[in-house]
Amino acid sequence: MVGRKFVVVTGGVFSSLGKGIFTSSLGKLLQAKGYKVVPVKFDGYLNVDAGTMNPFRHGEVFVLDDGTECDMDLGNYERFLGITMNWWNNPTGGKIFQLVLNKERRGEYLGRDVQFIPHVTEEIKNWIKKVGDDFDADIVLVEVGGTVGDIENSYFIEAMRQLRAEVGQNNLIFIHLTYVPEPSSVGEQKTKPTQHSVRMLQSMGIQPDIIVARSERPITDKVKKKIALYCNVPEDHVISDHNLETIYQVPFLLEEQGLHKLVLDHLGLEDRDQDMSEWRRLVNNILNPDHEVTIAIVGKYTDVRDAYASVKEALIHSGAWEKARVKIKWVEASDYDDKDIAPALEGVDGIIVPGGFGARGAEGKIRAIRYARENDIPFLGLCFGFQLAVVEFARSVCGMENANTTEIEPDTPYPVIDILPEQREIDRLGGTMRLGAYPAKLKPGSLVHKLYGKQIVYERHRHRYEVNPEYIQDLEAGGLIFSGRSPDGKLMEFLEIPGRRYFVATQAHPELKSRLESPAPLFLGLVRAALGRDPEKFKPESS
Ligand code: GLN
Repeated sequence: MVGRKFVVVTGGVFSSLGKGIFTSSLGKLLQAKGYKVVPVKFDGYLNVDAGTMNPFRHGEVFVLDDGTECDMDLGNYERFLGITMNWWNNPTGGKIFQLVLNKERRGEYLGRDVQFIPHVTEEIKNWIKKVGDDFDADIVLVEVGGTVGDIENSYFIEAMRQLRAEVGQNNLIFIHLTYVPEPSSVGEQKTKPTQHSVRMLQSMGIQPDIIVARSERPITDKVKKKIALYCNVPEDHVISDHNLETIYQVPFLLEEQGLHKLVLDHLGLEDRDQDMSEWRRLVNNILNPDHEVTIAIVGKYTDVRDAYASVKEALIHSGAWEKARVKIKWVEASDYDDKDIAPALEGVDGIIVPGGFGARGAEGKIRAIRYARENDIPFLGLCFGFQLAVVEFARSVCGMENANTTEIEPDTPYPVIDILPEQREIDRLGGTMRLGAYPAKLKPGSLVHKLYGKQIVYERHRHRYEVNPEYIQDLEAGGLIFSGRSPDGKLMEFLEIPGRRYFVATQAHPELKSRLESPAPLFLGLVRAALGRDPEKFKPESS
């Protein structure tokens, strides 16, 4: 390992600029150079984690192997960097203050008054160093969520200023990501918001070393010069991060401008040869597909598409491997709770019913599953989609009229999905969901087994309800098979209907582990089936 280095990325002008994508892309380049990188994403909110946040407001809740519920940005890091993160990679205001207050209650501050500086900032610096140690990283990439000037992240930015003083100028580089608008009424790119946000950062004692300008189109030389002049950086330290067709191109955009060289130079690290050919091949496939399929996502938050961010990405990954553009047709399930869904699904090549909670839209989703089963349209059910596939099968094939999940109908005559006694136990302990990665044992010879190519698989979970074991025999007698179960055989994890083009569902969320370089097998199977290919016989199409 080289002496540990730090890259700190702040944001200006407004949030949701794509700081996570930028930082992941820089990480990808550094990783390709043979450096071990680990990201830390700070979120300023006072929630301890994202588990209590509504996807309407905040997008998808991402789940890590260890069960941490976090911001969907962590998903980008895992997808780009291919690493598995944990609770410590996502400090939040809530977690940091909880730590400080717990310490205070234990009397660990020895009677001192507990202050933002030095106590809170000290915890933050220790946190960042700990993650570097835990991952044995050469470079820790710190993304400061929110915008410079927010109260929520001010103490965190102060901690980063202190960290630089502590580890030395050459061991920590500050990168500031801003926005350069091009208002149609003006007709040119404007740098004033960037100037202001850099000034704000300077007033906090930080001079950014590199300025990255998010913009619609490449920033012009004039704009580069202006930013350099006003913001006190050399011209070649101003990087254009304009909109591209796919986020997976961003590492190449940064590489072309030599960003990795600037960073490595600053940190005193050597530039090395790298091999990004596999990533490039897949990006080229995304940009120049030979085929196209349409997959319907029958969900509930279809007006807030971020709610299904990982599902969308998993489809892009599989499409890249098959050289196919996967078009998504968003179908709002609740529009079809009392009405035929066939007109909305006619002509689609595949159907996904993703995760979800609550009654609204559930009958619409069940209609979609029935449509897929009866018309043999490739189907993938995820979590709630898996549970509702069981409900649909029970009702339509096994004659269990009004079968349901007790989440929706507590008094159903056939509670095929229910909270299991073990789960109630967990409820009492305060945690209410089965969260994180769990192993499943796949049935030898099943489609799911062939897709994964191994017998024990670990996928991530986030749910309360399970298949009720009392109905397993009846359901299997009807022709559905549970092709993956927990190792003790008690929990149903995967199902499929043999003889279909593709009818597969899982209690887990395999989309959370899909990566461009290793797409989730169940998504790849779906896309292959949708393309009319044999889902089992997977061979990557060469470009
Ligand atoms: N609502 C279901 C449960 O709690 C499914 C959850 C999900 O789809 N993530 O079990």
